[in-house]
Amino acid sequence: MGRIFLFMGIQGAGKGTQAIRLAEKLGIPQISTGDIFRAIMKQDSPLGEELRAILNSGRLVSDEFTSQMVKDRIAQDDAQNGFILDGYPRTLPQVEHLDQMLAERGEKIDAVLFFDLDKDEAISRLANRRVCTANSNHTYHLIHNPPQQEGICDIDGAPLKQREDDTSEAIEKRISEYVNQTFPVVDTYKQRGIFHKIDARQSIDDVTRTMMEIAEK
Ligand code: AMP
Repeated sequence: MGRIFLFMGIQGAGKGTQAIRLAEKLGIPQISTGDIFRAIMKQDSPLGEELRAILNSGRLVSDEFTSQMVKDRIAQDDAQNGFILDGYPRTLPQVEHLDQMLAERGEKIDAVLFFDLDKDEAISRLANRRVCTANSNHTYHLIHNPPQQEGICDIDGAPLKQREDDTSEAIEKRISEYVNQTFPVVDTYKQRGIFHKIDARQSIDDVTRTMMEIAEK
């Protein structure tokens, strides 16, 4: 049976970067609900419009729609030997939806990795975040992880931009959504004994090392 990991943490904690690294190492997909929504947002459709409005304001997408997207995604061939869920579940109803999906598949969560970072540091990281316009997995921080050439991605030379939802109002809304909705989710997994907290203030490589140790257990 495949291995299933949940990655949680305040936005800006670096969980996306780390999820990509673990996914490569284990040969399983990293499934980010935020990435799924951003892909739909690019489409010129009513659904794209609707998601753009929700994401750019920093609110959460509905539990039903989010869970359906995850259910469809984990039904694909590449997810049959395990996967990493990055940014899901984020609310208590989503926890229930996931429990049900996994029960139907006869699977269980191996570990929940919580990337711990305080609110002020998270806000500062989001405000300084720049992403590559060609591949949103290539991310930079203007102070801690700047590109070699200002405004240009080191990996593919494409221009960098600020994420549309990294405005100060949207950041504030996302952080408050996180505190209200996602803290209870963290508590739920703590009680199940599959919870691991990682100090996300460490350097990116130190966080990776800690994460790999947990994943190898
Ligand atoms: P992220 O890329 O994880 O920062 O997510 C970006 C945005 O996508 C969030 O601010 C939400 O609007 C939406 N989103 C991502 N994951 C979820 C989720 N599990 N539940 C509801 N909305 C989500």
